[in-house]
Amino acid sequence: MDINIEQIRADFPILKEIVYGKPLVYLDNAATTHKPQQVIDAVSEVYLKYNSNIHRGVHHLSNVCTEAHENARVKVQQFINAKHTHEVIFTRGTTESINLLAASFGDTFLQPGDEILVSQLEHHSNIVPWQLLEKRKGIVLKYIPINQAGELILDNIDELINNKTKLVAIAHISNALGTVNPIKTIIDLAHSKNIPVMIDGAQAVQHVQVDVQALNCDFYVFSGHKLYAPTGIGVLYGKEEWLNQMEPYHGGGEMIKTVSFEGTTFNELPFKFEAGTPHYSGSVGLGAAIDYVNTIGINTIAQYEQELLSYASQRLASIPNIRFFGTAAEKASVISFLIGSVHPFDIGTMLDKMGIAVRTGHHCAQPLMQYYQIPGTIRASFALYNTKAEIDKLADATERVAQLFG
Ligand code: PLP
Repeated sequence: MDINIEQIRADFPILKEIVYGKPLVYLDNAATTHKPQQVIDAVSEVYLKYNSNIHRGVHHLSNVCTEAHENARVKVQQFINAKHTHEVIFTRGTTESINLLAASFGDTFLQPGDEILVSQLEHHSNIVPWQLLEKRKGIVLKYIPINQAGELILDNIDELINNKTKLVAIAHISNALGTVNPIKTIIDLAHSKNIPVMIDGAQAVQHVQVDVQALNCDFYVFSGHKLYAPTGIGVLYGKEEWLNQMEPYHGGGEMIKTVSFEGTTFNELPFKFEAGTPHYSGSVGLGAAIDYVNTIGINTIAQYEQELLSYASQRLASIPNIRFFGTAAEKASVISFLIGSVHPFDIGTMLDKMGIAVRTGHHCAQPLMQYYQIPGTIRASFALYNTKAEIDKLADATERVAQLFG
């Protein structure tokens, strides 16, 4: 099926906005995506028609709201092909999912000297929670290095995944470079040594089909807001055998079975990890976003975005003194670049004045920038509503800015 781009763009009201007198060209989708009317309507409907606190309600609105929230969980389960709905834990987003895992997995399983393995291209949210655990528990954080193309170097992986390793935690797709990591190879290798694997899918679920059972990963995390859903909702998928063993993260309502001053017993999955009033308007919005993506088809989206990526790579390549970062053989629709020695912030600011939204800086991946010995990059990241005409605008404007800076 081909993408009906006019129809899709009409679904996203914000794309009609005018910025500095110019039509908005939004190429900052790796940071967050815009929301289709269908998602906005689903969230509005919660507050217009059935807002009520969920679970254990005896009244009508509470039951309707509970059903909508739990239906959203089923949509997530089917979207990532989890075996059970109770393996889908709602969180505030990828960052909270990884912090939950670090705290709960750390409290339950880790001893001083145990190792966690990440990679050199991780987002800070898949580095810092483990560093906090280094301080709290005396564990050791190691990383898989990368090459100039921004690909993981797996030559020494047998030494990196050793008998001290207790968890491998790797991005599915790099937010700064777009590299698609060989996660299946890493998962199989780790499993051959009985070591569980967490995949950070923040940059993947919106671009490629994810099947957690086929991947056989132990944990998979992502954020709703990068998948056309509202902010403040995300997912931690975990195999039930791990989640059942893990200590709870936050304490409070929802996550308990009984409470007394003599001792408390915890609720079953998924509620054990969902303390407090759930973000039900967020989950309903996430369900609507998944429906939206499913109507177009994730594989159709992937194919369209690959066309945008190769068109943009080709258009930008002709700009004098352009340097690309992240030239892996397999990439998602992210392009990171610099022009000569011009600071990325200067270029980003001038592009903004032309109505073009890109992101500049270290993209929350400072160790990666340290590897390339650069302060940051200019990053254009494409979503299903972007067009080749917008990429032409980006290339023309970048060329003009490059000329201005000589
Ligand atoms: N991991 C990756 C790969 C990301 O790209 C991001 C956000 O850019 C995150 C984690 C953190 O996501 P959030 O800020 O939605 O928690």
